[in-house]
Amino acid sequence: MYQQGFNEFGGFAAAGAAPRPGRVILLPRVPVRSRIDLAPVLDRLADLDLAVDLGQRIGSRDWWLGLGLLTTLCLSAIGAGTLIVPLPTGVRAPLTAAQADDARPDTILPLAAGATTGRQSPPTKLVEALSEVPERPRLETTARVGRSDSLAAALRRAGVGGDDASAAARLIAGEVHGVAPGTAIDLVLGRRETRSVPRPLDSLGFRAAFDLRLELARVDGALKLKRVPIAVDYTPLRVTGTVGGNLLRAVRAAGVPGAQAAEYRQNLAYVLDLQRQVGRRDRFDVILEHRHAETGENETGGLLYAALRPEHGAPVELMRWTYGGKAMFFRANGESARKGLMRTPVDGAHETSGFGMRLHPILGYSRLHQGIDFGAASGTPIMAAAAGTVTFAGWHGGHGNYVQVLHRPGLMTAYGHMSRFAVKPGQTVGQGEVIGYVGSTGLSTGPHLHYEVWVNSAPVDPTNIKFTGGTTLSGGELARFQGEMAHLRGLKAAGVETAEADEGKGRRRG
Ligand SMILES: [Zn+2]
Repeated sequence: MYQQGFNEFGGFAAAGAAPRPGRVILLPRVPVRSRIDLAPVLDRLADLDLAVDLGQRIGSRDWWLGLGLLTTLCLSAIGAGTLIVPLPTGVRAPLTAAQADDARPDTILPLAAGATTGRQSPPTKLVEALSEVPERPRLETTARVGRSDSLAAALRRAGVGGDDASAAARLIAGEVHGVAPGTAIDLVLGRRETRSVPRPLDSLGFRAAFDLRLELARVDGALKLKRVPIAVDYTPLRVTGTVGGNLLRAVRAAGVPGAQAAEYRQNLAYVLDLQRQVGRRDRFDVILEHRHAETGENETGGLLYAALRPEHGAPVELMRWTYGGKAMFFRANGESARKGLMRTPVDGAHETSGFGMRLHPILGYSRLHQGIDFGAASGTPIMAAAAGTVTFAGWHGGHGNYVQVLHRPGLMTAYGHMSRFAVKPGQTVGQGEVIGYVGSTGLSTGPHLHYEVWVNSAPVDPTNIKFTGGTTLSGGELARFQGEMAHLRGLKAAGVETAEADEGKGRRRG
């Protein structure tokens, strides 16, 4: 079958190469005028041997012919040699001492050795030396206030006379309480009569506050102060985005400063199990205090609102509210976020072993696992799950370095396998306070936190415990809280991508 196909192909190819009808080319006829028979001359030239071996057949006719030819060639070469001018070459003659001196400023080698080079023009006789250099009529400069510094001292350092500096400082002190270290003060110093006196202060201006600029100017010989208010927009800044692999990193990457991002995560951790209840495609929603001056400066303040909008299900929303003189975060229903036990007392951890009967990885037999294991890098801070008193911090058999915190009679948490302690027995700790660091001490196969919750002297599953406490807003205060939260929820997010996604969600959840 294959062979037949191949033959057929071959036959087809041969048919394709069949001769095509050719074209007729007509050549012009050239007339021949004469014919000379050169054949005998060429034969004789071919017999002539110009390269004769002078060592053989000495004295023969060919020998003499060869000698004659060689002599003629030698003589003509010698004769022509005197007429040939040698070609110029690239080798230069060495410089004379004067030329070398002249070329020295043009060399770059001294630069490599750290010296300078180049030509300099010394003044000629036509140049006259001045007895005094004329001063600029006006001098613009900047004074900067340092730490534990005074405004008057900073002005004096910049060249302002003592009287002017004191007068300026007195006028400014009447308007603002102190000038922040690092503040730059723009100064204009005027013309002076003689060099023995400081220049007079003509004008001065600086940013006294985010929304205020103060200016001093000399009017009829005396300094006058002027307040220049700066318009500031206090609209909070909303940042939203997708959680992805790591909530904290995603929030930071969206532009939320470190402290506020940590505060966001910390408050969410009071109400959510960040390991179990946050998905990659959930959206974070952060609102920060923010002010934008008409002069272009921006300042980001504290966290106002922290929410997580899961891909499916209801969002978790927290908002800052001052209650009993203390700012804390509350859920949309008015319950304080901070209560009960933190679900995950270690940052960036994942649960590696749950509560219950299991085959012990080292002992090799089944026994009750009295807590939860969270895998985390060695040295990761471990936080107290709630406020309480440290009742134990030391070596505890298979638990290695172990800390127990008593939160109230009958409720205790314990943390095992620590690499290092951050607390001592008897110390009181707040919720979220670092009590030690993840390690692998005791019976442990790798760095992790072993976390236990004890209720009335019996270990319980930390994921099931509901431990209420904290505060709940009610009545008029709850209504005001919820009104404010609705206002924040209605803010547009910064950035195009996030704003669009967020508006859609805002309408749906209204
Ligand atoms: Zn464990």
